[in-house]
Amino acid sequence: MRIEVVAGDITTQQVDAIVNAANSSLLGGGGVDGAIHRKGGPEILAACRALRAGHYGKGLRTGQAVATTAGLLPARWVIHTVGPVYSPSLDRSADLRSCYTESLRVADELGAATVAFPLISAGVYRWPAEDAIRQALEALRTADTTVEVARLVLFEADRVPLAERLRRGSVPR
Ligand code: ADP
Repeated sequence: MRIEVVAGDITTQQVDAIVNAANSSLLGGGGVDGAIHRKGGPEILAACRALRAGHYGKGLRTGQAVATTAGLLPARWVIHTVGPVYSPSLDRSADLRSCYTESLRVADELGAATVAFPLISAGVYRWPAEDAIRQALEALRTADTTVEVARLVLFEADRVPLAERLRRGSVPR
């Protein structure tokens, strides 16, 4: 799988699937979740409500992923995943990496070849950006998937040079 790092807005990405950093309710929130629902229109929320009325009655667990339509967005699907809230005392990084690998597993099921990810947990959930990037790249690199291109879309453009260096493996821990 090719891994790309770009600056931008995930809602405008021309890919098969975009990933949403959702919350467990699946019923919308701020940050990238708010942007996806705003620009994708009510069809996405309707699909999320249907999930809550069915198999996801208690919501989506941290580190899990599930797909819906992408409504009015250029992508075909939105893959919703729930990142862990950052904790300075508990290591929740396996849950964070699981968001990426579970999203790719769902993408495989859909037959999506190109997938764009936001920097999961690095907003309201307060994960430090550099480590969030490291966890994302580690999970994407080691994933067993038929997805051809994974694109990490960084809303904060000033994070791109560091992410590019980490992607190329030129920054030691
Ligand atoms: P979380 O609750 O998982 O922290 P947030 O949506 O608060 O999710 O933030 C996750 C990341 O998504 C942050 O780095 C934030 O800057 C970024 N982000 C916010 N809006 C967009 C967008 N439209 N496209 C891509 N990334 C976005």
